[in-house]
Amino acid sequence: MKAVRIEAPGIIHMVEAPIPEPEEGFARVKVEACAVCATDLEIIDGRIPANYPLIPGHEWSGIVDAVGSDEDASWIGKAVIGSNDVVCLKCDACRSGNWRYCKNFEEIGFKRNGAYAEYVIVPCYGLAEKPDDIPFEEAALCEPLGVALGAMQKADAKFGNTMMIMGSGSIGLCMLAVGKAMGMRRITVCARSEGRLGIAKQMGAYATIATENKDLEAEIAKIHPDGTDVIVDATGIESCIQSCLRICTKGGTVVLAGYGRGKMMNIRMDDIHIKNLRVIGAGNNWNMHKKAISLMEDGLIDLNPMISRRLPLEDFESAIEMARKRPEGFVKAVFVRVEH
Ligand SMILES: [Zn+2]
Ligand SMILES: [Zn+2]
Repeated sequence: MKAVRIEAPGIIHMVEAPIPEPEEGFARVKVEACAVCATDLEIIDGRIPANYPLIPGHEWSGIVDAVGSDEDASWIGKAVIGSNDVVCLKCDACRSGNWRYCKNFEEIGFKRNGAYAEYVIVPCYGLAEKPDDIPFEEAALCEPLGVALGAMQKADAKFGNTMMIMGSGSIGLCMLAVGKAMGMRRITVCARSEGRLGIAKQMGAYATIATENKDLEAEIAKIHPDGTDVIVDATGIESCIQSCLRICTKGGTVVLAGYGRGKMMNIRMDDIHIKNLRVIGAGNNWNMHKKAISLMEDGLIDLNPMISRRLPLEDFESAIEMARKRPEGFVKAVFVRVEH
């Protein structure tokens, strides 16, 4: 099969790889769509621990074409999305539903081969069926959507809360979609430049602020005169996190959903202490694929505006370049399968 493989940090190319065989409990999925994530760039550059050589790709959808054991045969032929978590299902963490804390945790696209390929091997216990009327490329976005769903759940965000989102990348925009569906008020999306704020408006943001030419704190005070209850940082950038902590209302919640790239950061501790803020870590997808696809199916969430380019896997170099350079209005590139 054709696959895009990272041989070592910085070295990525298309290879002809053997079609993988599913072991017991696993399914082989013929990949119909796989989105390029900013995290993939971190893996390509060697800034996130991964097992090289590695086929990346953790935002996928496809059709099950083989399974490792007969008891899973009912999955064959079904259109699916699914969890990337490969876990033991036996330890205390797994049994309490906290798959992420499994001692033997491995993630598809990080430690195991992902979906920048014609086929990917995934665990059957994480599969969810894709409804016919959701296109494969939108279904692939259930992965970042699941991150946003888990983050808002952890934030204990309430109907009618005011909300601000720092960052207009895919996680920021998924947070917007979830916040809208949850009845958050006056959701304001902030980013350095106008680049993707048009997409945020299209997806229903109440307001947007380009911080390079506006005073963020003065603007948000006008939009949320009674305070900002829930703030999501989807940038992982020190100055942005400092602003979030400063802006958040007393007793409010700041959700940290951006990757900090291992950096040490300065924060003004008193912003948290004196205002009694809740600061929540929210970095991963916690078995939210099924919920995510249900919300899409019911029309409560539409991520279609986030798909900027559909292209075949062969064009991986231009997809990665776009993801790095983020031209005006670009959010996501998605690889889609083409018949050869
Ligand atoms: Zn991702
Ligand atoms: Zn376990």
